[in-house]
Amino acid sequence: MIPFSFEVYPPRSAAAAAELPATIDALAAAGPEFISVTFGAGGSSRDSSLEALRYVRENTAVKPMAHLTCVGSSHAEAGLLIRRFLDAGITSFLALRGDLPHDVDGAAAPLGDLGSAGELVQLIHRVQAERVPYTEVQLPGLPHAAQVDRHRAKVTVAVAAFPNGHPRSRFDGQDVDALLAKQAAGATLAITQLFFEAEHYLAFVDRARAAGVTIPILPGVMPVTSASRLRRIAELAELTPPPRLLAALEAADTDEQRFAVGVENAVALVSAVTAGGAPGIHLYTFNRHEAVLTVLAELGLVPASAPKYGTRNKESA
Ligand code: FAD
Repeated sequence: MIPFSFEVYPPRSAAAAAELPATIDALAAAGPEFISVTFGAGGSSRDSSLEALRYVRENTAVKPMAHLTCVGSSHAEAGLLIRRFLDAGITSFLALRGDLPHDVDGAAAPLGDLGSAGELVQLIHRVQAERVPYTEVQLPGLPHAAQVDRHRAKVTVAVAAFPNGHPRSRFDGQDVDALLAKQAAGATLAITQLFFEAEHYLAFVDRARAAGVTIPILPGVMPVTSASRLRRIAELAELTPPPRLLAALEAADTDEQRFAVGVENAVALVSAVTAGGAPGIHLYTFNRHEAVLTVLAELGLVPASAPKYGTRNKESA
C-alpha cells in the first residue's frame, strides 16, 4: 500500500473558513499519513494556519504538519512562533525559507536573521530540546521511583526539494547540495515542488542519492483540472506548462471532462513515480477533496466509493 498525504492552505475568507472543516474531514477519512497546512509568506497566515492545524489535531485521527517560513524573522521571533506551535501540540513541521518579498525595484528585501530553511530546521530542533529537556518514565513496581527517558520526544522536520531546480539556483546541483545541507541540519523528510514529468522526479532522486541524501523524498503531485490553473501554477513554479496536458484541458468542453483529464494525468504521474520507487505521494489539494480522492480511488488506495466529480468541484483558477 502506497502511503499518501495531503496539503491544504489556510482559508483566506470567512466563506472558505466555513468550508475547510468539511474538506479536512473528507481528506482525513481517506487515512493519510499527515495533512500539511501552508504558511503565508512573512507570517501573514499565522493564526489561520494554526487554527486549521488545530482542527486537524482535535477533530481527526491524522497528524497535522505545519509549514513554517523564516524569511524576515529574527531568531527570537521564529523561536517564539515555533514554541507557540509546539504548545498547540503540533510536532511535525515543514521548514521553509519562504519567498523573499521584493521592493519596488525588484530587489530582494532584507532576510532577517534566518537565511535558509536549514537554519530553521536546526532552530525547530533546538526549541523542542529546550522545551522538553527530558521526560521521566515510572519504574515498574516502584510507585515513587522514576528514571529519565532516553528517548526524548522529538519533532519531525520535513523540507522542500526541487526536482526541476529552484528558480533562484545559480548552478546545476545547487538544489541537491541544498537538500544535503538540510538533511545535515536534521531534516528527516523532503517533499518536492510540483513537477510535470515522472522522469524529472526520478532523475532528481538519483542525483540526490548519489550525493548522499538518504531521507525519503516524497513527490508532490496536484491533479490540475483547468487550463488557467495549470498556467498559474506553472508560472508560480517558473516551469513551462506541459503542452499535452494544457492542450487536453483546453480541448475539454465541460468541467466534468476537465476533471477527468486532470485526474487521469495525476494517476499516470503517481503510477510512474511509485513504479520508480517513490516512497509515497503528497497530494496538493487546493482545498478540494474530490480530485485527490478520485486519484487515490483510481489507484486503488482508497475505496472506489470515494466521491467522484461533483457540483462542488467547479474549480476556478
Ligand atoms: P532553501 O532550502 O533555503 O533554499 C532554496 C533554494 O535556493 C535551494 O534549493 C538552492 O537552490 C537555493 N539556495 C539555497 N541557499 C542559497 C544561497 N545561499 N544563495 C543562493 N541560492 C541558494 N512558501 C511559503 O511561503 N509558504 C509555504 O507554506 C510553502 N510551502 C511549500 C511547500 C513545498 C513542498 C515547497 C516545495 C515549497 C513551498 N513554499 C512555501 C515555497 C518556498 O518557500 C520557496 O520555494 C522558497 O523560495 C524556497 O524555500 P526553501 O525552504 O526550499 O529554501
